[in-house]
Amino acid sequence: MNDCLFCKINRKQIPSSIAYEDEKLFAFHDINPQAPVHILIVPKIHIAKIYDTNQSHSSLLAHMIFIANKLAQEKEIDQGGYRLVLNCNADGGQSVDHIHLHLLGGRVMKWPPG
Ligand code: 5GP
Ligand code: ZN
Repeated sequence: MNDCLFCKINRKQIPSSIAYEDEKLFAFHDINPQAPVHILIVPKIHIAKIYDTNQSHSSLLAHMIFIANKLAQEKEIDQGGYRLVLNCNADGGQSVDHIHLHLLGGRVMKWPPG
């Protein structure tokens, strides 16, 4: 997707603060952090929203969670706790149409979320 923001970040056409990268995904610090730790875990393939995923994406989706756990440990929020968020479509609060898992931590999270 030529004009997708996160595809552009993946192609290094837009700079980002990379926290992790492998052949399947990359993770970078959110430009507008909502917590002391706010990292986006993003597949390298373009998938617009989580609703578009199916059984064929199972291992990729699991990998996103495992990498989020690894980053939580690296950032030392694993014991205190953290939140993983997938926003889908407008009412879900999705603003970038390329799936991304938010890793949020370093402060006490509120429930229910806004
Ligand atoms: P969403 O609202 O779609 O769930 O999350 C999109 C996230 O991407 C937001 O938290 C927003 O701050 C972040 N974001 C938007 N544009 C950029 C950018 O150019 N660089 C980085 N690092 N994050 C971005
Ligand atoms: Zn994309």
